[in-house]
Amino acid sequence: MIHELAAYEEPTLGCTRCALAATRTQVVFGSGDPDAELMFVGEAPGFHEDQQGVPFVGQAGQLLEKLLNGIGLSRTDVYIANVLKCRPPGNRDPQPEEIEACESHLFRQIELIRPTLVATLGNFATKLLSGKPSGITRVHGVPQQVMLGGNEVTLYPLYHPAAALYTRSMLSVLEEDFARIPLLLGKRVAAPVMIVEPEPEPEPEQAKVPELAVQLGLF
Ligand code: URA
Repeated sequence: MIHELAAYEEPTLGCTRCALAATRTQVVFGSGDPDAELMFVGEAPGFHEDQQGVPFVGQAGQLLEKLLNGIGLSRTDVYIANVLKCRPPGNRDPQPEEIEACESHLFRQIELIRPTLVATLGNFATKLLSGKPSGITRVHGVPQQVMLGGNEVTLYPLYHPAAALYTRSMLSVLEEDFARIPLLLGKRVAAPVMIVEPEPEPEPEQAKVPELAVQLGLF
């Protein structure tokens, strides 16, 4: 039976909702496991993605793949999509009217894939899916619970791999944030991941009671 996502992809490949339809080579719908637990959302296709029809196949994509391999996953284990399905000319930033025209494609993808964890790559995906204006520098690495496509989802903002390619310190942060993905997949935490070790719990009074007293049944 054809997956509902594939059925939705088919007409989307002819989308003409915004002006990018006139300049794109093709629509870059998304790729990977249509039932993935983990979904990545980037910004928009670049030159190579526009040529090949697959998201994250350029340099940023190679870094994304390396980071995935580092946590024991590959592209086929996850689903990868973008806020915009068509390349903005010259890789310029997505325009508000393009995001508005395109966003329902992404929301429908999320609804059909039903991921439990959505990692947003960079500012555009993070702001759109969190529904908040807070920038990626403030919110990266901090999971948030949001409702997407009718389901509660853990949103996990990350630096965009393309930005990390140019700034070493950002790459280290991206690697650290990425390393927490397996934990987030294992147990969908509602609270931010604890980075600082908590103080050890004080010993319960009972434990301080001399062993002999316990053996004697005094406590
Ligand atoms: N390639 C994509 O598919 N998306 C981005 O956001 C960047 C590169």
